[in-house]
Amino acid sequence: MSKIIAIANQKGGVGKTTTAVNLSSCLAVKGKKVLLIDIDPQGNTTSGLGIDKSKVEKSIYDVIINETPIGETFIETKVKNLTLSPSNIQLAGAEVELVSVISRETRLKHALNDIKEDFDFIIIDCPPSLGLITINALTAADTILVPIQCEYYALEGLSQLMNTVKLVQKHLNPNLKVEGVVLTMFDARTNLSIQVVDEVKKYFGNKVYKTIIPRNVRLSEAPSYGLPIILYDSKSKGAECYMDLADEVIEYSGV
Ligand code: ADP
Ligand code: MG
Repeated sequence: MSKIIAIANQKGGVGKTTTAVNLSSCLAVKGKKVLLIDIDPQGNTTSGLGIDKSKVEKSIYDVIINETPIGETFIETKVKNLTLSPSNIQLAGAEVELVSVISRETRLKHALNDIKEDFDFIIIDCPPSLGLITINALTAADTILVPIQCEYYALEGLSQLMNTVKLVQKHLNPNLKVEGVVLTMFDARTNLSIQVVDEVKKYFGNKVYKTIIPRNVRLSEAPSYGLPIILYDSKSKGAECYMDLADEVIEYSGV
């Protein structure tokens, strides 16, 4: 059995990419076969794993627009068991190009059909919008994992996100479920962080992971070395927490 998880929140800077890269790496380190798909035109997941975006020959753009088999985009990463399907700025055009293509919402879903069973987990890092690229991810996914930053207005926009999930469930993917909610950039010294945790727990109940990701400078440094935290500084608090999150994801997913 394999599981496809879309990491989505239309807000930028909430920790989607950091969670995508580090959760995927930790699942891989724990022996799971993982495919990480970058579908953000910014390509931060791609560069965060040390891949030069400008040298990517075939990307997820070709998969979605030209129906290139996704296997042709695969790049093996420095983490054993972790494969990347990269993105680059070319994907920015896809949002507009998709509007007029046949089966525009199900392109990614179809692309994953053939290779799905080759992996234990397929993690999709979404762009900060609710456009057709994110809709493709939610249509292809079994579940959505939502990172929420412990900051002002943390809950703002979440009802819009959950509405999109409902629309996708109704029209495109009736089996889509919420995998979980992960609180990110927690700062134990501030009342604000503590308040946000309480509010998010009121809203999402037991969907909130026990593991809370703290603000950790090592997590923000790692991408500039092209490394996930587990290879950059395995002793850091950030590495420890993403390993714990991976345990929770494995436990609840039954994979
Ligand atoms: P998104 O993909 O949602 O836009 P990112 O994962 O790129 O968000 O995070 C936004 C910025 O915050 C990045 O510079 C990242 O390095 C930093 N960041 C993310 N999570 C943490 C954390 N737990 N501690 C410190 N910095 C973080
Ligand atoms: Mg991102």
